[in-house]
Amino acid sequence: MLERVLPRGDCMLCGQPGCPRALCPACRADIPRLPAEQCPCCALPTPAGQVCGACLRHPPAFDATLVACRYGFPLDGLIQSFKYGHRLAVAPLLAKLMATVPPPPADLLLPVPLSAAHLRERGFNQAVEIARPLGRRFGLPLELDACIRIGDAPRQAGLPWDQRRRNVRHGFECRADLTGQHVLVLDDVMTTGATLDELARTLKRHGAARVTNWVVARAVRDGQGSGKGK
Ligand SMILES: [Zn+2]
Ligand SMILES: [Zn+2]
Repeated sequence: MLERVLPRGDCMLCGQPGCPRALCPACRADIPRLPAEQCPCCALPTPAGQVCGACLRHPPAFDATLVACRYGFPLDGLIQSFKYGHRLAVAPLLAKLMATVPPPPADLLLPVPLSAAHLRERGFNQAVEIARPLGRRFGLPLELDACIRIGDAPRQAGLPWDQRRRNVRHGFECRADLTGQHVLVLDDVMTTGATLDELARTLKRHGAARVTNWVVARAVRDGQGSGKGK
């Protein structure tokens, strides 16, 4: 019944016409998910949901991470067309995917800022576009002015993993007093978690009591999260 009153469009992945929810059922089923058992801190798949080795060795500044999907085909192409191909219609779909992992109560919703140079180049901040409908839906105040991203690090996407980690050092500046606040940080893709760690560190220096990441998709490297090894 409900589907009849919703506007129908083409599936954003395969183009099949008449899909009421932006994806056809087959493409929706193809969106990669993470196993339910994850590190409570960084959302890496772990046996029995234990804290992962990386978080034990170097506890990140953030307290928890909620992830809707695993970063991989066909979601990766969708996110890339959104960010680099200016396909803004993808934002509400990503927001819907995120709504499947509802956030805890928080004082503010903070999309990860882009540097001024990247904002000029892209014309929009993808995290802000995803955050807008979610802020409305979950009654979370959207915070767009508290933090800026400083410096102009090379694009993370082209760098090996260990260089990415070095690249985000001192990447954020905070101008707000966040004393006692629970900050919900929204990002599209979590790769190493280094950017989110750096941002959380900055937020805590400015008084944040708790930082929870809320992410569309988490990349998991080969050998990570398989439940084998460490
Ligand atoms: Zn489809
Ligand atoms: Zn972890």
